[in-house]
Amino acid sequence: MLAALRHRTNEWLIQRALTLMSPRRKRLEGMKGDEVFCPCCTGSFVAFLPFGVAGRRRAHALCPQCGSLERHRLMWLFIQQRTSMLKRKEKVLHVAPERFFFDRFSKDPQIDYTAGDKFDPGYSYPAGTIDLDITRIQFPDRSFDTVICSHVLEHVPDDALAMRELLRVLKPGGHAIIQVPLKDGLERTDEDITITDPKERERRFGQHDHVRYYGLDVKDRLAAAGFTVEVVPFAEQYPAAEQFRMGLVTGGGAIYFCQRPA
Ligand SMILES: [Zn+2]
Repeated sequence: MLAALRHRTNEWLIQRALTLMSPRRKRLEGMKGDEVFCPCCTGSFVAFLPFGVAGRRRAHALCPQCGSLERHRLMWLFIQQRTSMLKRKEKVLHVAPERFFFDRFSKDPQIDYTAGDKFDPGYSYPAGTIDLDITRIQFPDRSFDTVICSHVLEHVPDDALAMRELLRVLKPGGHAIIQVPLKDGLERTDEDITITDPKERERRFGQHDHVRYYGLDVKDRLAAAGFTVEVVPFAEQYPAAEQFRMGLVTGGGAIYFCQRPA
């Protein structure tokens, strides 16, 4: 089977982008301003930084202080405003956590936090992260109140199995908060798991380790796994100027708020 979760590309790029710039203090001095605001670290700056591999570089993406991207800032606002996660004691499983979220959640005494990632040789993971295959999760049924899984499923050949696993480990009434990259205007998911050549995957699916581009039918796929799915275009609730100020516009996408029926 192909490695289920080669999720590290973005995390690695973020850390590299932050490291390559001038020393942190000097960098932040130069970025001070009021034009943009990062809800993750509550920093204000003249701009967000460009981010992405050559040819797919996005302007206005990376927070110079905490390294959050558009979808991270959107997820953070969503978690604060729409979920029970920070309002009561919860057991949370976080698949392939981003650094900002790992630091925030692992220190929160309200959260019984499990962070898991598919371990790849050559990468290091924050202390306490467990080796996790999303298609074979090592926890019993009904273990968690919330599962967070952002930009992971597009790496997994058998995503239907992964979705069923996410449902299985949730308590009835619990939620999976899911984000996937969607191709604009694509109705039906475009996938081919037989393509293994990294260059061909990049050409076809936008990244060397993706096996599909999701279309709008991702909602049906999640429903087929047993979830009650609410598609939340969360950035759109903000006026355009606010979307810009918090850098939510490009690459944010919808949040799939998926409940295991009670
Ligand atoms: Zn930030």
